[in-house]
Order: sequence, then structure tokens, then C-alpha cells
Amino acid sequence: GACVGLTVASTASTAAAENGEVYLRASAPVNARVQDLVRRMTLDEKVGQLEQIAVNRLLGDCNWSGGAFNETCMKQVLADAHTGSILSGGGMGPQSNTPKDWAVMINTIQKYAMEHSRLRIPIVYGVDAVHGHNNVLGATLFPHQIGLGAAWDPALVGAAAESTQRAVAATGVTWNFAPVADLARDQRWGRYYETYSEDPLLAGESAASAVRGLQNSASGRKVAASVKHFAGYSEPANGHDRVPADLSMRYLQDTILPSYKAAVDAGALTVMVNSGAINGVPVHASRYLLTDVLRNQWRFQGVVISDWNDVLSLQTAYHIVGDYPSAIAAAVNAGVDMAMVPPDDRRFHASAVDAVKRGLISQRRLDEAVGRVLRLKFTLGLFEHPYVDPDKANAAVLGTDSDLARKAATESLVLLRNSGGVLPLAAGKRVLVTGPSADSMPNQTGGWTIGWQGVPDGVTVPGTTIVQGLKANAPAGTSVEYVPDGAAAAAQAQSADAIVVVVGEKPGAEGLSDAPRPELAADQQDLVASLQATGKPVVVVVVSARPLVLGRAAGTAGLLAAWLPGTEGGNAVADVLYGKANPSGRLPVSWPKNLGNEPMYYQQLPGTNSGPDSGYSPAYAFGAGLSYTTYTMGNLTVNRSQVRPGDTVGLDVTVANTGTRAGDLVVPIYVSQPTSAVLAPAKRLVAFTRVTLAAGQSRTVHLTFPASRLAVTPGDVDGAGPTRVAPGAYQLSAGDLSASGPTAAFTVR
Ligand code: BGC
Repeated sequence: GACVGLTVASTASTAAAENGEVYLRASAPVNARVQDLVRRMTLDEKVGQLEQIAVNRLLGDCNWSGGAFNETCMKQVLADAHTGSILSGGGMGPQSNTPKDWAVMINTIQKYAMEHSRLRIPIVYGVDAVHGHNNVLGATLFPHQIGLGAAWDPALVGAAAESTQRAVAATGVTWNFAPVADLARDQRWGRYYETYSEDPLLAGESAASAVRGLQNSASGRKVAASVKHFAGYSEPANGHDRVPADLSMRYLQDTILPSYKAAVDAGALTVMVNSGAINGVPVHASRYLLTDVLRNQWRFQGVVISDWNDVLSLQTAYHIVGDYPSAIAAAVNAGVDMAMVPPDDRRFHASAVDAVKRGLISQRRLDEAVGRVLRLKFTLGLFEHPYVDPDKANAAVLGTDSDLARKAATESLVLLRNSGGVLPLAAGKRVLVTGPSADSMPNQTGGWTIGWQGVPDGVTVPGTTIVQGLKANAPAGTSVEYVPDGAAAAAQAQSADAIVVVVGEKPGAEGLSDAPRPELAADQQDLVASLQATGKPVVVVVVSARPLVLGRAAGTAGLLAAWLPGTEGGNAVADVLYGKANPSGRLPVSWPKNLGNEPMYYQQLPGTNSGPDSGYSPAYAFGAGLSYTTYTMGNLTVNRSQVRPGDTVGLDVTVANTGTRAGDLVVPIYVSQPTSAVLAPAKRLVAFTRVTLAAGQSRTVHLTFPASRLAVTPGDVDGAGPTRVAPGAYQLSAGDLSASGPTAAFTVR
């Protein structure tokens, strides 16, 4: 009965198979290859394709060292289990960590897997390369997603993703667990920095561009992206990672799902599931999300992979079932195709076989899941090209694209305060630099850098720290003195013309970097206050995974949000502080004023002003960001006054650089409704672009957006039916949230 469920297809492919192995023919259509291969497989072989095993099993248990390993153990983990995929979670790899050694390791695993597979099925190898190939030493590291979101520049996100693609592909990796399409809506959550924005459109456009870049195969090898963590992972009720959330259907449909949909529509080959539970259902067991929404509504054709351990979690953490076979059946029947690191992998295998034999999982559903995994492998070209050339790996990775990373980091910097003309720093002056993040590559590169929680002790990641950048790029006559000790820095302040103090957070990831108090640490607040007390102009640079409440550190002359800018961060900060670059980043999130101002996002619903600092009252609003020049926006026109839901709306807006320096201007377009039957945020972002303007230049910019972007869940019954574009009056406005920019009106019929 191995081919039940593929009756029609397998009858068709039988004749072809008799003339040879269709699945091995590169020229055959992928579907035919999949069907041919599935019908040849035993139950054991099929179940193996549903398993993704951590490389730690090989490195640790099998005593891996430089290509040698314990044969009995390798056989058990790879061959006997017919394992479909291996991953390096959190950078786990060969000790030396060179790109070449990674390529050798992955080639060796691949060779073993294929040679011990009766049908010569290759493995697909996965990593989290979330800001460049952050798993290998010497790779250029881009800003984390929150920084790229601050650039409001999907094309830049795409370019960084293409660079990452080239690096990971060269080391034999064919699956990248990126991008994150979750939203940044709660500063307490430790994975905040892994997202692009609090805004569904900015997050979705960035994630879509990342998918296209990561799956670009110009380098000759294809890598699959994985849109994660579908869906609503960013909304844990108490701010801690992987905590269940209650999300109304209205919030889910109108706010949470669109960014994942944008990334799926961009052609993502795989999707990873949210570890959490929503509305009382663990997402790994949510047929609604994984099948009704993702497959049936969005027509997603690729592989759905669980997150780490999360199939067994259905039993051991969520208690929705009482045994392993039932947990596997719940996940697979909801729509999960592959289990990432199922704990006790041999027991997983036996339990999955058992679940099929007992009919908990139908043969049809099993074949569908296996077929999807195999389709991925055919699409990636793994049957034809399972190996990479290790001798090319170092050259393809080490130090490549540093100019692009510098540009990305520069665009990501958001200038939030600049009083008394402190910035750019005048040339020929004495600059005193201090603060715990001034000379820290680990802080600057954040989590997911070599180690899961960031750069491990004893490892040096090459790159330019902020102090190094300020020294190396100092204009003639400018002297830079770095005084690591804060008290000593305050004592020496009198001899300086300006003080740059670099503060922020230590790196971290997943739970360990949750911050119940998302504020600048007390000793760092004190440090800034003591420097302020010297009377010298102080510029605070914040290197952090999220906006931090600044407390006693607020109110300095200069304030620059640097996020986690990566290996070129030092050069980028120097370029902006010295004025070589004109700052152009805009907050992709809201910067809260007070602890407890949570959740903090601009799309608050009307009626939430109930006292001081209630409603939307951030320290710096979504979209805020200063420049060294001045801009104006005027004359917003819309190409139709009557809009139908299927239309594309076109608009023109005139922008001008009225200052004396060239710069990039982010142009956001918001929509508002004078009245709306269901509560609508005062403004919603519907389009944006970034334009370069020479000093004195003015331009008319054309933007478009599909009217379907206005759709919301109608009616007073939560969860009733699909979204739709409500008829009525709409107003567009260009420019900052708070500013009174130009407007234009239209009506939806
Ligand atoms: C994380 C995922 C990641 C996976 C593999 C999980 O714990 O939630 O984002 O892709 O580990 O490293």
C-alpha cells in the first residue's frame, strides 16, 4: 500500500518508470520525478524524509573530527534512519569554523547519506544565516533584521539576502531558516531584533524581498528560504518567548497574517511554524493556520517544517495528546511536513511508523508530506549537484561584500536627537569615546553570531568596532581617545570637545534575551548622566536589540539608534557621526518613553486615550528619524477619486531637499478613514519608498498600492468571514505620522 493516495498519478508514472528511473532524470518534470520516487519508497524510507536531525548528533555522539567519525553511529543516525535533513542550529559546526571546513563537513555528510541510501536520496542541509552567513568565522555580517527594517529599503534587504545566499551556498548549505516575518510589537520579547518592523507592510515588503534574494540562484546553486515563525510568534502574552497568545481573529487576519503572506507570495519554498499556541491551539496542531490559511487560501506548495522539538511539545509541553505517535499525527495532520530535531530521534522514527500503521496518519497524507520534501530536493538540484567545491568556499565567503554591509549599516542608523548642532562632529576636534559597547564586536553583532546566543567567549569575529571605526575614519586633525572605564572618562571630559558614549545590550537569543524591563541598564544610565554633568556635548549611540527606555540617559545633545549593525557597524557609525554619510534611517518601530508602555505600536485603536501617556505617546514615533538636511513634501495627488477593491491606486507626491546636503528621504504614505464601522487605527502605512535627493533638488515620486491592502475583517462578529475593503471615504497622507503633510482623498465604492 505504499502508493495509496497517489492512485491516478502512480498509474500514469508506472509506464515511464519501467523504462528506467524517472526520478533520476534531470530533464523529467519535477512532479513526475516526485511521484516516481515516492512509489519506490518503503514506509521506513518515507518516515526518514520527515526528520531533520541536529548535526550535534554527528559531531558529538559520532565523535566527528576533521572528516573522521564513528561509523556505527553515522550509520545509525543517517543511514538506518533514512534521515531527510540535517541542520546546524545556532551555528553548531566544525571546530575551526572556516567556510572550507563547513563545506567539507557538509559534503562528507551528504556523501555518506547518499551512498547509504538505497535510492540515493540526498539530504538538505539547514542553518540560520539570519544576518549574513553568521555560522562561519570571517563572513561579513549585516545588520540584524530590525536594522534593515530601519532602512525602509526592501531593495537593500534583497541585496543583503543575495550576498547571504552566495555565502551559504558556497559552504554546501541549501536551506536557510530566514527571513523572520513576525512583527516587533513587544519590546520585552527577546527575538524583537530578529523582526523587521512593528508594521505589517514594512515587515512584509522586507521579508518578501529577503525571500527573493535568498532564493536567487545566480551563483549557480539554489538555497531555500524559510518564512518563520508562522504565525503570530511575536505576540507572547507576557513578553516571554514561546508563551501562548490570545489573538482575536480580526487582529490575526488584519495585522498578523499579511507579512507572512507577502513572504509566501514571493515564492518561499518553505515555512517554519510558530512554537507558541494561539487562541488555545498550539500552532503545530493548527489545521486552520497550516492547512486552511496557508495551503488552501494562500496556495502554498512548499514544505512546512516544525520548529525545534515542537512536535513532541504537543505532548510534553501542551498536553493536547498523551503519547508520541499521537503528537506526530496531530502535527502531520494539521499540515507539518518535516519535524525539526524531534527529541529522541530513534523513538520519533518508530512512533511515526507506528502512527501510520495504526492509521493515525493516512498513507495519502504521508505521501503528500514526503512528496513535498522530495520536491524541495529536486527543485534545489540536489540529486544532480549534491556537493560543493570546498576549495572555493573561503574565497566566496571571507570578507566579501563589506561595502554592501557598510551601506546597509549606514542606512540602518536612525538619528533621533541632534541639538545644538552637535552632529556631524566638527573636524579638528578632540573626541572622547567610552561606554560598554564602544569596542565590542559581540554586542555589535548580537545573537546568532557563531554561537546561538552570540559570539562565544574566546572567539574573535573580525570586523570594525565603533571605536575602531571612529579612529580609522577620523577626519584630518580630529583626535579620538578611547577610555573604556566610565569614571575615568568623566574625569578626562574637560579636555574633550565632544563625548561619544556607546551603550546598549549584550547579545542573546530565544528566551535568554527576553527583557522584562526593556530599559538601559542602571549603570549605563548613570554613566551617561555623569558624562552629561561634565557640561560637554554628549552623543549617545545605542547598540541594542530593541528600543530601550533611556531614563536618566535621555536628553543628551545627540542620540543615534544603531540596532545591531554587524561587522561594518563601526565604519557606518563613523560615517554618520563625522558627516561623511547623511543619516537616513527611520524608526521601523515605536520607541517607548516609559517602562510599562507595552505593547507599543502606532496602530493603536481609537478610544485608547485614558490618561497621561496612554494611547500612543512614544518617546520617538514610528517613522521618526533626522537628517543633516531638510526636506519638504507637497502636492499629493491620487489617480482616481473612485476606487474599486480590485484596483491599483496610483499617487504622486512632490518631495524636495531644501537643505545644503544630498540625502535619502523615506516617503511614507498613510491611509486613514474619517469614519469606520469597525475600529481602525488613526493611520496605516499603505506605501513607502526611499528617494535620493541632491541638495536643492525636487522630484515628483510615483507610488502605487493595491486597494486590497485596505481590506479588514468586517462586521461585529469576531472572526466572521474573509477580509474585505470597506466602502466609504479614505484619506491618504504623506510624511511623518505626527506631521501635517499633504493629503488626498478617495472613495471606495
Ligand atoms: C528557533 C528557530 C530556528 C531553529 C533552528 C529554533 O529554536 O526558534 O528560529 O530556525 O531553532 O536553529
